[in-house]
Amino acid sequence: MSILSEKDPEIYKSIQCEKERQMDGIELIASENYVSEAVLEAMGSIMTNKYSEGYPGKRYYAGNECIDVAENLAIDRAKELFGAAHVNVQPLSGSPANQAVYFALLERGDSFMGLDLDMGGHITHGLKINFSGRYYDHISYGVDKETEMLDMDAIRKSAKEKKPKMILSGYTAYPREVPFKEFREICDEVGAFCWADIAHIAGLCATGYHENPVPYFDVVTTTTHKTLRGPRAAMIMCKEEFAAKIDKAIFPGLQGGPHDHINAAKAVAFKEAMQPEFKEYSGQIIKNAKSLGEELQAQGIRLVSGGTDNHLLLLDLTKTGQRAKHLVEQLDKAGICTNKNTIPYDTGTPWDPNGIRIGTPALTTRGMKESEMKMVGEWIGQVVKSPDDNALIEKVNAEVKELCQQFIIYK
Ligand SMILES: *Cc1c(COP(=O)(O)O)cnc(C)c1O
Repeated sequence: MSILSEKDPEIYKSIQCEKERQMDGIELIASENYVSEAVLEAMGSIMTNKYSEGYPGKRYYAGNECIDVAENLAIDRAKELFGAAHVNVQPLSGSPANQAVYFALLERGDSFMGLDLDMGGHITHGLKINFSGRYYDHISYGVDKETEMLDMDAIRKSAKEKKPKMILSGYTAYPREVPFKEFREICDEVGAFCWADIAHIAGLCATGYHENPVPYFDVVTTTTHKTLRGPRAAMIMCKEEFAAKIDKAIFPGLQGGPHDHINAAKAVAFKEAMQPEFKEYSGQIIKNAKSLGEELQAQGIRLVSGGTDNHLLLLDLTKTGQRAKHLVEQLDKAGICTNKNTIPYDTGTPWDPNGIRIGTPALTTRGMKESEMKMVGEWIGQVVKSPDDNALIEKVNAEVKELCQQFIIYK
């Protein structure tokens, strides 16, 4: 009997219910992962009790000796992992981290360039009703209509014409390698701040499977809970010359006390990410994504840009005659969790788009490899062909459960 099950059986039950869902289902949401039990333990620790406004060695409240140790470990490990000059580990999540970058480097009304949201940008990259689109002037760039990859010539041309104060690269639904070096060159040519948001690909950047922009970009933000496989949170890495501005923007600019238990868990995750097993894991994420993509193509499903270089795939369902939102629901009934997503030049809307986004970080954490990806691809192909065949959905669901039982996440 756990303490929680006795004290609050309703919440206990909801957690057990979610645990079963995570255990018995194929998790393909590209931004999700399963953290280690060591990370969970740090997150659930008594460090949540402390107030630590300020930074290590310079706090407003007394009693931060032990907290300083943990936060400094998180900072030092992040620096080592990414080759960062300065790191702020206090952002509560990816969106607040991004907010701090705008707050630190731009004035209201200043312009910045970021990918069109329908083509894979995040809401904090200039969505009209998001603070980023409301307080700053978003100049959007896009992907080429044919290749569906970033059109660097058009981006350079537009940057030269419009002279944005900042250029943002790094995305939410872009399956290809981001040419960070070219973004750096363009920023230098037009005198713009050079910012990357590597929320999705941080684990791949840290292990060398994707170009790591941290050493030569002005600022890089990332969540810690996606491919990096740490607690739900974020951090900002920057050059020394922006350190004071970034730190001030986080505290006292936007936040109060840091979440010390989460920062301790970040340190744990960063240590894990420095191990050889994590490098192997990151390589397997990409192998799995490629092999899942090949199976989906064999099933007749078109992939945006024709494939993937990273952990994610964007399925174009336009020609299937099915609505993505309906397919997502039916796949979910079959035990396969995905999300609907716009695709470049989508004729639908964000609520009713033509794409589905999937990714392999979570399944790879479970230990699944190429042969399991083939099975997953086949199941998706079957559901896409006959989404309203209830017998099929039930059959797939049973097979999904059987596979999942061979790949236990938490004992
Ligand atoms: C996930 C994501 C974020 C936001 O993270 P939250 O923790 O959900 O606020 C920011 N930027 C990009 C590119 C993302 O993919």
